[in-house]
Amino acid sequence: MIKEDTHFISIVVPVYNEEESLPLLHQQITQALSALPLAGYEIIFVDDGSTDQSYAQAQRLYEEDAQHVHLIKLRRNFGQTAAMAAGFHAAQGDIIFPIDADLQNDPNDIGRMIEKMDEGYDVVSGWRADRKDKFLSRRLPSILANQLISTITGVHLHDYGCTLKAYHRDVVQQMRFYGEMHRFLPALASWSGATITELPVNHRERQFGTSKYGISRTLRVVLDLLTVKFLLSYATRPMQVFGKFGIIMMALGVGSGLFSLVQKVFPPHQDVTASPWMYICIFLMLGGLQLLSIGLLGEINIRTYFESQGKTIYNIREEKKPVR
Ligand code: UDP
Ligand code: MG
Repeated sequence: MIKEDTHFISIVVPVYNEEESLPLLHQQITQALSALPLAGYEIIFVDDGSTDQSYAQAQRLYEEDAQHVHLIKLRRNFGQTAAMAAGFHAAQGDIIFPIDADLQNDPNDIGRMIEKMDEGYDVVSGWRADRKDKFLSRRLPSILANQLISTITGVHLHDYGCTLKAYHRDVVQQMRFYGEMHRFLPALASWSGATITELPVNHRERQFGTSKYGISRTLRVVLDLLTVKFLLSYATRPMQVFGKFGIIMMALGVGSGLFSLVQKVFPPHQDVTASPWMYICIFLMLGGLQLLSIGLLGEINIRTYFESQGKTIYNIREEKKPVR
């Protein structure tokens, strides 16, 4: 059971050329939510530079239902991540639900997700257990991608790609995301200390319009994954990473330098340029020096990053101060 009248929720819908779906989606969301004991809700449509009648449709919905609809039109197509970010920043609710505009997610799952949130989770990740997409071009790459993301991030989820998820507002509002990072939000949230669970959700075939993605998305996801992994593991301590390799390279460089000296000093007094060891020494010393310098520059960079934004390297969930 949902705690009655305690939740004001925000539904965030990224929209790119989904004119036929919008009225039905609005209707389904309204129907699903009016059955729930909520304090209120808002539906934020973010038009991501659609070239069809999506915005006109959304405007009609706004006129019909101005009490709940919040309309945002981006100046051009910025991509799903950016559209979601725009919606997240505008959201007023205590729980935020991104959902696809194409009716593939089912608004009737929202109630169960709120119940899960009430158990104390910060993120409830939708899992399209019975996904209705083509196997070879969509589901198979997705299975592999989810395994890869789970292994690398250490946050094990079956379905990173499912848009329908529930986030506590604190989790998303302090986060910035780039590239196609919306799918890594659960991992990013978990690293900053959020508690996560999964919930199987309904998935339906696309009725109208076409998918905005093809197989090439897999490569972009992998590249973003590398960025995320790097940010996670090393962003707060670049010198530890680059410095370590720098020192190792320089130590090997000193070794090979000494070796070429030994060859020169002792018989048969080999010319240093006749053996590769001196060149190896030069290469290793220069390489090591560069890595050390990159480490130092990195340290300067993270100070700018954290201090200019007033960011802290920790994250507090709750604090109670002594009463004096
Ligand atoms: N979308 C968007 N901007 C884009 C591409 C997609 O806002 O540049 C929206 C799209 O309208 C839909 C959601 O993101 O609501 C997911 O897109 P799609 O259904 O094409 O992805 P799929 O379900 O095929 O993975
Ligand atoms: Mg879809």
